[in-house]
Amino acid sequence: APLVMEGIGKAGHAEGTQALAWLELQVERGEFLTLLGPSGAGKSVAIELVAGFLQPEAGRILIKGERQARLPPWRRDIGLVLEQPDLFPEMDVLSNAAFPLEARGMGRAEREERAAAMLERWGIPPALARLRPAALSPARQMRVAMARATVHAPALLLLDDPFRALDGAERESLAADLARLRQALGWTVLHAARDPVLASVLSDRMVVLQGGRAHQTGTPQALYENP
Ligand code: ADP
Ligand code: ADP
Repeated sequence: APLVMEGIGKAGHAEGTQALAWLELQVERGEFLTLLGPSGAGKSVAIELVAGFLQPEAGRILIKGERQARLPPWRRDIGLVLEQPDLFPEMDVLSNAAFPLEARGMGRAEREERAAAMLERWGIPPALARLRPAALSPARQMRVAMARATVHAPALLLLDDPFRALDGAERESLAADLARLRQALGWTVLHAARDPVLASVLSDRMVVLQGGRAHQTGTPQALYENP
């Protein structure tokens, strides 16, 4: 499986609290799994653990059967998008999208060709390639962040509520593109969200987190039939 989390525990900020009390999770190849829950449920901590920004106090995390290497996320087999696009402000749109390929040592012509193709899949036209991210709308910046996170065909795409800051129409169109592209390209996704409606549309399976534990797990249909 692209991702296995076994018996994960992580202490919280305040003494005696648990950000994650116990989390056992497996994401299968090609699966879209959402961690659903209110603010403070532990979703971001779970994503940050998988991204390697945090280390678990208990348990282990395997990506494609291996423990995470001590490499920056760019160099590992993941893609990551958080609530904000976090693009490199000094790099143009195309260079942002090509960055994970550059970090892998791919030559300029090939990486720019691949990045341009991925940007187009995400709805960013070639005319915007040489602009700085700040010249684009927030919704388009998020699309560039999605292209950057997927350009290297990662084994695992991590999404920490990238829809949250977008308005209704932008959110729906980005979600529709994500649903279409992940089917077409076979991505495996771990997504964190608070909005159960959007998550239900996107997900094969959802894990409802509450107080750092998996409270319920199932397909969106099963969870809605037995809430
Ligand atoms: P969510 O993403 O579901 O809103 P978080 O994962 O951000 O929730 O937070 C879950 C709990 O873990 C909160 O009590 C929070 O204070 C705590 N927490 C958040 N970040 C960290 C961290 N880096 N280290 C330890 N505890 C954290
Ligand atoms: P640092 O601040 O320690 O230099 P990084 O350079 O690794 O951190 O990452 C800076 C930001 O870039 C992160 O906060 C994250 O939003 C984004 N990022 C990191 N790794 C990836 C990745 N693999 N894919 C997409 N975005 C990433």
